[in-house]
Amino acid sequence: MNQPIARERRHDPAFLGEVGGRLGRSLEKELGTRTGKALGKLGVHTVGDLLRHYPRRYGDRGKLTALRQLRVGDHVTVIAEVSSSESRPMRGKVGAILNVRITDGTDELLLTFFGKHSRSLEHHERRLRRGATGMFSGTVSAYRGDRQLTHPSYETFDDLDDEFAAVQKVDWPIPIYPASASIASWQIEKAVETVLRPLTAEDVPEALPAAYRREHDLPDVMTALRGLHAPRTPEDWQRARRRFRHEEAFVLQTALAQRRAATLSDAATAFEPRSGGIRDAFEARLPFELTAGQHEVAAVLEREIAAPVPMMRLLQGEVGSGKTVVALRAMLQVVDGGGQAALLAPTEVLAQQHHRSITGLLGPLAEAGMLGGADEGTRVVLLTGSMGAAARRKAIAAAASGEAGIVIGTHALLSEVVQIPDLGLVVVDEQHRFGVEQRDALRAKGRTTPHLLVMTATPIPRTVAMTSFGDLETSTLRELPAGRAGVSTNIVPADRPRWVERTWERVREEVDAGGRAYVVCPRITAGENGGDAAEDGFSDDVSDELFALDDAGEPRRPLASVEEVAALLRQTPALAGVAIGEMHGQLPTETKDAAMADFAAGRTPVLVSTTVIEVGVDVPDATVMVILDADRFGLSQLHQLRGRVGRGTKPGMCLAVTAAHPDSGSFERLAAFAATTDGFELAETDLKLRREGDVLGASQSGRSSSLRLLRVLQDADIIDGARAAARDLVARDPALASEPGLARMVAESIDEDAAAYLERT
Ligand code: ADP
Ligand code: MG
Repeated sequence: MNQPIARERRHDPAFLGEVGGRLGRSLEKELGTRTGKALGKLGVHTVGDLLRHYPRRYGDRGKLTALRQLRVGDHVTVIAEVSSSESRPMRGKVGAILNVRITDGTDELLLTFFGKHSRSLEHHERRLRRGATGMFSGTVSAYRGDRQLTHPSYETFDDLDDEFAAVQKVDWPIPIYPASASIASWQIEKAVETVLRPLTAEDVPEALPAAYRREHDLPDVMTALRGLHAPRTPEDWQRARRRFRHEEAFVLQTALAQRRAATLSDAATAFEPRSGGIRDAFEARLPFELTAGQHEVAAVLEREIAAPVPMMRLLQGEVGSGKTVVALRAMLQVVDGGGQAALLAPTEVLAQQHHRSITGLLGPLAEAGMLGGADEGTRVVLLTGSMGAAARRKAIAAAASGEAGIVIGTHALLSEVVQIPDLGLVVVDEQHRFGVEQRDALRAKGRTTPHLLVMTATPIPRTVAMTSFGDLETSTLRELPAGRAGVSTNIVPADRPRWVERTWERVREEVDAGGRAYVVCPRITAGENGGDAAEDGFSDDVSDELFALDDAGEPRRPLASVEEVAALLRQTPALAGVAIGEMHGQLPTETKDAAMADFAAGRTPVLVSTTVIEVGVDVPDATVMVILDADRFGLSQLHQLRGRVGRGTKPGMCLAVTAAHPDSGSFERLAAFAATTDGFELAETDLKLRREGDVLGASQSGRSSSLRLLRVLQDADIIDGARAAARDLVARDPALASEPGLARMVAESIDEDAAAYLERT
C-alpha cells in the first residue's frame, strides 16, 4: 500500500514484465519516434497507456457534430460539412488566406489557413470543396464574433474512403480521441489499431472477477478493449464503457477496502466517556445549545472512540456549521481517558485560529497547572513551522510528556521530532490538502493506532465521498446555527470599467457602514506566477494552458497580484482615505497575525490577500469579498472564499471579477457559482460541468486520475455495488491471491491518488 513504491514499480519494466510484458513496451519503439513523442505529450507512453487512452466520444459519418456547443479554448474534433470556401491575398502583405466555413446544418465554424501565396493553399482548397464532409481538429478561438480553428488538421471522408472501403469500416462508429495539435484523433486511432491487433488475453490483466462480470453482464477485458477502440456498432462501445466503469469502481474500491481492512485490524485505545471530567465541564460552560445535527454527530463520535477499533470518519459541513465544537468534544473525551488529541490544520493562519478558538472555548479548562486553572483541565499547545526555537521546544516537550492533552499544528506536527505518546485521536481539518501519507505519519506517532476524524467544509456528494474517502464513513452537518445573514454573488466583467469602478464604490459604502472587505488575488507579486495557490500545494482544476492564452489566443495579461492591487487601490479615488492592508502566505507569521488583527479591528478595513484567508478565518464584520481573476479559482475554492463574508448578522456580498470570455467554460463555472449558495449543489454542478467539458472534448487528457469513465454522480449504483463486492472479496481474500489481475491493477492505480477528484476542486 506504500504509494511511492507503487509509483516506482509502475515504470519499472521488470515489474511490468511479470505479467503481460507487452503492455509496458514503449510507444516510441512500437510506433516510431514521431508518433511516440506526440503521444507522450498526451501522457501516453506505453502500449498499456495507449489502450487506456479512451475515445472521448464516437462519431457517425452521417451525423454532424453540433457546433453550437463548442467552447472557446477547447481543443475539439468535429465532424462537419464544408459550406463555403474562399481564398484571397492578404491585405497589404505578402501571402494569402483561405477561409473555409464548415457547418452542422445550423451553426458554422470558420477554418482559417494562411499561406505564402495562393498556390500554397491550393491543396486545402481542392480537398475542402463545398459539400465535402470530414473530421476537423483544432483549438477554438474567437475572431470578430466568429468561432474559428486556425490551421486545423483535418481528414475528409473522401480521403479516407479507399482505406475504409478496403476494410469495410464505412458504417462503423468513429472513435474520437482526446488529441492535440501534434497528433490528430484519426492518427491515434491508427496507432491503437497497430498495438491492439497482436495482443492476446494473456497480455492484458483481467481485473474483474468472473463472477462479478457474470452478475453484471460485462464483457471480458479484451472484448471490451476492442469494443471501445474498434466498435462495429454503438452497442459495442456502450457495453465496453460500462465494463470499464465497473472496472474503475471495482479497482478503486478494492484498494480502499484493503486500506480500511488493514487499519481496522489494528488495535485502537478505547476511550469510554467519563462523567465529571473535562468534557462535562466543557459542555457546562458552552454558551449555546448544540444543534440537533451536532448532537447526532457527537453521539456517533462518542460511541466510536469508545471502541477498541480505530474510528475512520469524515465529518463534512459548511464553514460555521459547528464541526470544530463537535470535534473538540470528542478530543476532550480522549483527554478524560488519559489520552492526547492532535488537530492538524492546513495553514498557519488556521492553526492559530483553531488554537485561539479552542483555548477560548475551554477558558480555565485549558490552563491546567496554572494559577486559576481548572482541576480537571488540560493544556493546549500550538506547534507551527514558523515558531521561534524556544517556543517550539516548549511545545514539543509538552506534547512528548503527555502534559498537553491537545496539540494543534500544521505540517510541523508531522516532523519526526514531534512525539505524542498517548495520541488517541487525530483530527484533520480540510483533509484534501493532506495526502494519505501525511495521515499515516500522524497515525504512527502514538502507541496504538489513533482514531481518525477528518473534517471538511468542502461539500462532497455522497458518491464522491465514497470514491475519494472510500475508507472513511461519512457524517454531515447540514444546518447552520441560527442567525446567519447569507451572501449574494455577482459577476463583474473586467473589461467594463464602469462595473469595476462600481465594485470599489460598493467596497467604500460597506466600509463607511462599518463593514470590512476582502480583495483576493491569485498572485503575490507581479513577477511570480504561482501565488498562494501553488504555495499551499493547491491544485487547480483549470489547466495552465487556459491561463497562458486568452480567449482570442493572445498571451494573457498578467494575473492580479496582491502587491500591485494594493498599490492600485491606494490610488483609487473611491477608496481615498481608506487604509488598505496586505496579506499572503510568504509574510512572516507576526506580519500575518498583525494584518489579520488590523483587519478584524477595522484599522485596515480593506485587506488585499491571496487565498491564505480562504478556509475558516473568522471576521464577523466582513461583508464584502471581491475576487479578482475569479476564473483562476476552482468552484469549491470560490465557495470557501465566499464563506468568509456574511458570517455575522449583516448580509454579505461576493463580487467575482473576471476577464473570461462569456462563451468560455471558465465563465460558465462562474455563472454556476453566482447562481447558488448551496455548497452541495455547487459541488454537484462542478462535477457535471467537468463532465460536459469531457464530452465536448476539452483538452485535458484525463491522465491525472485513474477514474476516466466512471461518473461519480450518474454511476452511483455502480459505485455502491462495487464497494460492497470489493469489501466482500477483501474480507475473503485480503491479499487478492485469487485475483492476480485485480491485484496488479490495484498496485498500479494506488499512486493515482484516490482523492484526485477533490484535489482538482
Ligand atoms: P466549523 O468548524 O464547522 O466552521 P465552528 O465549530 O468553528 O464551525 O463554529 C462556527 C461558530 O459558530 C463558532 O463561533 C462556534 O462557537 C459557533 N457555534 C457552533 N455551534 C453552535 C451552535 N450550536 N449554536 C450557536 N453557535 C454555534
Ligand atoms: Mg472550522
